[in-house]
Amino acid sequence: MPETTLEIRPGVTIPEHLVGEVRSKLAYVDELIGGAEISPAGDLIHLYLQRKPSADEIQALKEKTNRVVNLMARGVIQPKVEILEDRLDLPLPYRDDPLEALTRRHEIHQEASGVYTLGPLVTRLMDYFETRFLALANHFDAAPYRFPTLIPARYLSRVNYFRAFPHSLTFVTHLRSDLDVIDHFAAHAVADESGRINMPADTYASIETLLSPAVCYHLYFSLADRKLDSEYMVATAVGNCFRYESSNLSSLERLWNFTMREVIFVGSKEFVLENREASRQYMQTVLDEIGLAYRVESANDPFFIGEFRRQAAFQSAFQLKYEIRARLPFRESTLAVGSYNYHQDFFGRHLNISLPDGSPAHTGCTAFGLERLAFAFLAQYGLKRDDWPVAVREGAG
Ligand code: 5GP
Ligand code: ZN
Repeated sequence: MPETTLEIRPGVTIPEHLVGEVRSKLAYVDELIGGAEISPAGDLIHLYLQRKPSADEIQALKEKTNRVVNLMARGVIQPKVEILEDRLDLPLPYRDDPLEALTRRHEIHQEASGVYTLGPLVTRLMDYFETRFLALANHFDAAPYRFPTLIPARYLSRVNYFRAFPHSLTFVTHLRSDLDVIDHFAAHAVADESGRINMPADTYASIETLLSPAVCYHLYFSLADRKLDSEYMVATAVGNCFRYESSNLSSLERLWNFTMREVIFVGSKEFVLENREASRQYMQTVLDEIGLAYRVESANDPFFIGEFRRQAAFQSAFQLKYEIRARLPFRESTLAVGSYNYHQDFFGRHLNISLPDGSPAHTGCTAFGLERLAFAFLAQYGLKRDDWPVAVREGAG
């Protein structure tokens, strides 16, 4: 547990709509920080520290915290939130945090921060939601794909991922191909109580590969430097995704390793926008049958500090992202369980993907986080099947 609290009055007041976004970024300010809170008025920050800081460390913590607040909040204008569907007020039978009951019944097991084993109850729910997503994919005649869990650094670099989301990257390495290094590792390597392996950094090869942060990127990479034979394509895939979230990792709400199902659209601007909208309408009926209390509203991606203001404003101005936000009654808040995205011709231009007429392809995707959807459903309906809406009881029983 963190031992000391540091109180900071930021030079700029954090507007209400940014409080959550700034708080989640404070986790990356310093390794001393185990958690952070911002007062609702946005004028007071509490950093929870792992140990008592020195005077120099306090200075550095204040300076870095103010840097985050300045870059993210100074002069920022609140974007208008556009609400496309609102079923937040559906009556619900459950009010507790399902995590505790799931843990008690050994339905989930935490291996590490943000890494969970899921038992039959959650797995069956996720499998059931998958059948609904596969039906959505079939509705669009989507071609099925399987993508790797690993992703090459050179591709992520080409689409500026290192600029936009450096904080959430997860790197992959292996032992250097040197017999002395491997022999030494085999003879002496152990993971200590903190979980760290007791070997120096030069034991490992330099990094060319990462764990994939999204599913649709793999499709775009497979189309890179090509002219498409047809005017459009629709694909679907499910995959492991990884986003490192530091001390924000918690529960099944924010996992380091999670599963995403996507339906992906590639074609003209009109084609992508029409199909993104058609998939939203299709899912409206599905979410209704599942009995989910949710809202679909405009959103932005969690860009890193320096990139945040410009990129979030851009996404909002061009209506690039809508999220399905499910209600979490136990904390009176919402959680994004899916999103409807339009990337304009960003991937078409950066990866040189062109349509038959030579213009850069536009892309978009409909994406669902399976663990989050299962978690939000359990938070709304509890673990007793008898309390579940009929469609889910029959589909996931
Ligand atoms: P997006 O591409 O919109 O960021 O992510 C698509 C979906 O993946 C989100 O709506 C959410 O359901 C899921 N997702 C994104 N980040 C996380 C995470 O950290 N943990 C979990 N469990 N799901 C996530
Ligand atoms: Zn996508």
